[in-house]
Amino acid sequence: MRIVIPKETDPTEARVGGTPDTVKRLKALGADLVVEPGAGLGSGIIDSDFEAAGATIAANAVADADVVLKVRRPSSAEVKGYKAGALVLATMDPFGNEAALADMAKAGVSAFAMELMPRITRAQVMDVLSSQANLAGYRAVIDASAEFGRALPMMMTAAGTVPAAKIFIMGAGVAGLQAVATARRLGAVVTATDVRPASKEQVESLGAKFVAVMDDEFKQAETAAGYAKPMSAEYQAKQAALVAEHITKQDIVITTALIPGRAAPRLVTSAMVASMKAGSVIIDLAVERGGNVEGAKPGEIVANANGVKIVGHLNVPGRLAATASSLYAKNLFAFLEIMIDKSTKALSVPWDDELVKATLLTRDGQVVHPSFAGAAA
Ligand code: NAD
Repeated sequence: MRIVIPKETDPTEARVGGTPDTVKRLKALGADLVVEPGAGLGSGIIDSDFEAAGATIAANAVADADVVLKVRRPSSAEVKGYKAGALVLATMDPFGNEAALADMAKAGVSAFAMELMPRITRAQVMDVLSSQANLAGYRAVIDASAEFGRALPMMMTAAGTVPAAKIFIMGAGVAGLQAVATARRLGAVVTATDVRPASKEQVESLGAKFVAVMDDEFKQAETAAGYAKPMSAEYQAKQAALVAEHITKQDIVITTALIPGRAAPRLVTSAMVASMKAGSVIIDLAVERGGNVEGAKPGEIVANANGVKIVGHLNVPGRLAATASSLYAKNLFAFLEIMIDKSTKALSVPWDDELVKATLLTRDGQVVHPSFAGAAA
């Protein structure tokens, strides 16, 4: 069983699909590990660290791989070089990318989309959405504080008192709750909002105040899977009025709101941005999915006429690449472990396992996932 950890081909991707720790664990399960030169550099891991853990370093190693551990979906050109039947584990970004799924099917690989992992207790250790969103939430506060020309905590000094910054977090899922916790640790006065009623208690348990229109629709606004439902136009108007009034008093706004399989909801209008004080900072963590903030630009920091900055960093977990890679690699290891037979030390994929079925996009030349099966190879 030959497992390859390639260097990511996307120049903006600093993360890597394996670490010396996961290399050691996979070797213990009977695998031969091959790492491409420089694969870990963006995450602070040098080739000799991988070698010390038992891997071989070799360029262009994917052609003979039985398993490829990647961060991002392989490009069409890349996947053509993979062996038919190889298992490929990555974040596949499948929605709207049906042509790329067809290319993976054509190459004959079994491609697993890690972001489709069911959010059940057994799979928590494999949940890349949570491991990466948690870091994005933390990093959003650090980025906001770096862009903000003031201190976050209240300071009483001989030269005068500095007030605590007011930070408003919109969307209190995994990223938002970590942003709340981080902003609290840094001494800010924190408020947060979400459309899921369960999030109120979670926000309050972290010492922040919950701000939302809590009518009957709000009380029903969670799917059985624990995700947000799209809200009615009437609810959105009421909530927008409350948010508009609240935002004018904030120094920093961090938006994290997503709805699975849809564009991100628009929560902050240009008028709301214009109502904020000069020097305020907005971080839009949803910018890659269409953005929560009007005027946010992917990959850019936009300063509006009244001196409010809108930050649209891409791949925010990648801005903490070493930590992000170490958690991501553990997520991949935990999933791959269920595909390795411990007695024969060979690959043995449990094709009927619910985690395999939920994440498998392509197999034997076909797009097999029920959500994408139309993308014929
Ligand atoms: P997400 O990334 O899909 O969305 C982020 C947040 O935005 C969510 O809290 C969502 O409710 C919120 N949102 C959507 N529309 C909004 C709007 N119009 N205004 C304000 N907020 C809005 O969500 P997530 O972070 O992946 O988490 C979703 C849920 O799943 C949470 O309850 C989380 O605790 C839960 N979860 C469970 C497990 C598990 O293993 N059981 C693991 C991870 C997450």
